[in-house]
Amino acid sequence: MSLETLADARWDCGACTSCCRAYLLGPVEPAVVQALEARGLNEEKPGWYRSFPGPDGPVYFLGRQDDACVFLQQDKRCELHVRFGAEAKPGFCREYPFRLRRGAAPAALTVRPSCSGLHMSFATGTPLAEAAPGLAALPLAPLRVPGARPPDAPVAILPGIGVEPSVFDKLAPALIRRVSGVRGEPSAVLADLRAAVFAAAGRASPPPDPSRAEEIARMLLDRLLQILRGAAESDQGEPWQRLFFADAADLVGAALSRRRPPPWHPDVATYLNQVLRGELLSRELLHAGGLAEGTALWWLGTWVARSASPEASLAELGPRHATWCRLTENRQVIQFFRGAAAPLAQLFLLVEPATTEATEPTANHDSDL
Ligand code: SF4
Repeated sequence: MSLETLADARWDCGACTSCCRAYLLGPVEPAVVQALEARGLNEEKPGWYRSFPGPDGPVYFLGRQDDACVFLQQDKRCELHVRFGAEAKPGFCREYPFRLRRGAAPAALTVRPSCSGLHMSFATGTPLAEAAPGLAALPLAPLRVPGARPPDAPVAILPGIGVEPSVFDKLAPALIRRVSGVRGEPSAVLADLRAAVFAAAGRASPPPDPSRAEEIARMLLDRLLQILRGAAESDQGEPWQRLFFADAADLVGAALSRRRPPPWHPDVATYLNQVLRGELLSRELLHAGGLAEGTALWWLGTWVARSASPEASLAELGPRHATWCRLTENRQVIQFFRGAAAPLAQLFLLVEPATTEATEPTANHDSDL
């Protein structure tokens, strides 16, 4: 299977172990459970999995120990991988942090920005197609995002304007090329992408309004903060989940308490630009409702990460941005942002480029759109 990737996308694992801690660690394929049971794991490591009744039989999750996967070793390596090889691991472990968008020819391979190692390796790591050998052959479960848009449904490129998926499949590569040509901070990138989408729709782009945009951003984050604090203090869920929500609440609270975010570092802008292009290529951007809402959510994440990082260097901002992205993979948070489609769309319309340093349009810039 041929894989489409961003030409400049690279990645290496930084062995931070975040992905072995901040997820539900499942579901595990029944065949994987049976194979590991046959190796005698039940006797050797009681509690290595947990099962819950599901509509089609039991649903399995890996067990936890000290708030991490039961197979995470002291040396930060995976015990299953060390002892039995990669093939013995559940599919979701083998897939992470990659995302394979199937159903398109060629399939698209990207890295989840929730990976805390991406910011360190996006420019110097292993090219993606080499970093993910065998991924295309993995029997991955289809992506299940609550209330996700069916793949054959029209794609909302602007509020009230939808196009057929085949039309969006032609527009997306042009937008990715366009975004890659924009130098500057995320506001400049959003504004340039907005102009391109309005041009593609044959409409005039409305004037931005930065103070109203900030008002909307703060309102959304205020509401999110209430949800996160409630989840952190709830007696529902497990300790690691409460910890996860408490950390996320600290991040959002820190961003909200900052009136004047620090200036951007150029390498931070380059990183966030690649993240946006990856979200476009994978179509993850559409899970917030449409292109406008998804782009606004990406921008909001960049705003949170920068506002919560006093130095705003890549080393400082990268892990915070990854925490934000992990948060936006949480079902409760996905549902919150789905319900906030209208303010997100407004945010998309109102963000103003504070420092626009767009490169000269390439030869095919306009004809693409
Ligand atoms: S979060 Fe990313 S860098 Fe950290 S261990 Fe997982 S894959 Fe590696």
